[in-house]
Parts: sequence; C-alpha cells; structure tokens
Amino acid sequence: METMASARLPPMRVAVVSDIHSNLLALEAVLDDVGKVGVDEIWCLGDIVGYGPEPSACIDIIRHRCAISLAGNHDLGAIGSISIDDFNPHALAANIWTSSVISDTDKMWLGSLPTLTLVNGVTMAHGSPREPVWEYVFSSRVALENFDNFGTNWCLVGHSHTPLVIVEQKHSVLPKTLPISLEPITLHGRAIINPGSVGQPRDGDPRASYAILNLERQTLAHRRVAYDVKSVQEQMLVASLPPYLIDRLELGR
Ligand code: ZN
Repeated sequence: METMASARLPPMRVAVVSDIHSNLLALEAVLDDVGKVGVDEIWCLGDIVGYGPEPSACIDIIRHRCAISLAGNHDLGAIGSISIDDFNPHALAANIWTSSVISDTDKMWLGSLPTLTLVNGVTMAHGSPREPVWEYVFSSRVALENFDNFGTNWCLVGHSHTPLVIVEQKHSVLPKTLPISLEPITLHGRAIINPGSVGQPRDGDPRASYAILNLERQTLAHRRVAYDVKSVQEQMLVASLPPYLIDRLELGR
C-alpha cells in the first residue's frame, strides 16, 4: 500500500466509503454513483465484512477498486485477529458466519490492512485516531480528546455508521458537530469526518451513505444512494443471518 501511495499522483477528488458490511448491492449502487460524480480515487475506512450476505464479493471489489483500505473491527474479528467476545449476539453470529464463508486469500488480504494510515495529508482510522479499532467518535468530548491524536487537518473515521463532521474550535472549546450536506461545504480548519455507512446506515435513512472529499478545493459533500434493500434482506434470510440485522436494514437504524 505504501509503495502504491508513493508511486501515484496526488488525487484531487476522493470518494470516501466505509462500513460496507458485506452489502454488495449497496456497494454496487455507490460505485455507480461514484462513476457519475467522477473521482480520482476511492478510499475505504474498513468494516468491509460483517452483518451482510456477500462478504467475498465485497472484499474483491474493495481490493481492486480502492487505492486505500483500512481494516475495521468486523474484518479483524472475521479473521480471528481480535477477540469477538465484546460483539453483541447478532454481530457475533454474523461474524462467525462470515469467517466460515470467506477464503484464506480473503483472510490474508484483510489481515494485511492497517487500522490507521496517513495519506496525502489526511489521517484515516476505522474508529478513532486514538483507538483505531474500537472507539466511536460521537460526542464532542471524545472528539476533543481525539484532535490531540492526529497531526493533519482532517481525520476520516467510520465505525459509528453516522455521517457527520466535527470541527475543531480554538482554545479547547468543545468542537462543533455539523451534518454533512449534499451541497459541498468548505472545511475551515481541522475536522473529524465520518462519511456514514454504505451497507448498514444507522442515521434513520436506509439509503447507502458516502462522501466526496475534494482535497484541492477543501470541500466535502455527502451522497445518499438508494438500492434494492429487499433483495439484500432476502439474501440474508437465505444465509440464515440474524433477523434483527435483516429488519434494521430497511429502517436505517
Ligand atoms: Zn461497522
């Protein structure tokens, strides 16, 4: 990954995807949309697998289409490199199933991914820069503490499945949380950015969520993409994945 990063031209427009969670139809819909927008690179913040019915196909696409990819807690759980004792029962069942259906090659590739990286002046972590595997950056307090844990202007994170931008304020005042909007916003100063989840959004909107980061203009835009949720639910039923995970997909919760 490092070799590839140093050999390539710096990208201007980047599609930032995260938390695909083995949802192939959502990922394909996002990639169609990315094709229409036009970007130089796609960066993935991890949790490629877990929850959904198509882990191998999602790994294959992310592996070939993304210039950067991180591993998330679900990826590491599926390859046995972290303990899954803290997963809730639904996540645990899906993780054990995922581990049983992906190939050794898939596992080796997931095992080769970092959980934190710095590319083109942007820090990326699955959870947070302070604790890349497990920590959620939801609250202003957690965000404030995390601003001390990266040295770049921006840090991209996933994991919470909630699209947002948290902007640092001067003099240790708590940072401000903004929703990311479909209209590009200019990023002033340092920010922690979450593009939301492609495969299992949890902000009340079931459509796949991702973001376009323009490194040259320093802007960020949110994208939402509808996909065939019903078909994914049917595939999950066939794979005997937990009903709770099947139901929540159409709610975006
Ligand atoms: Zn996730």
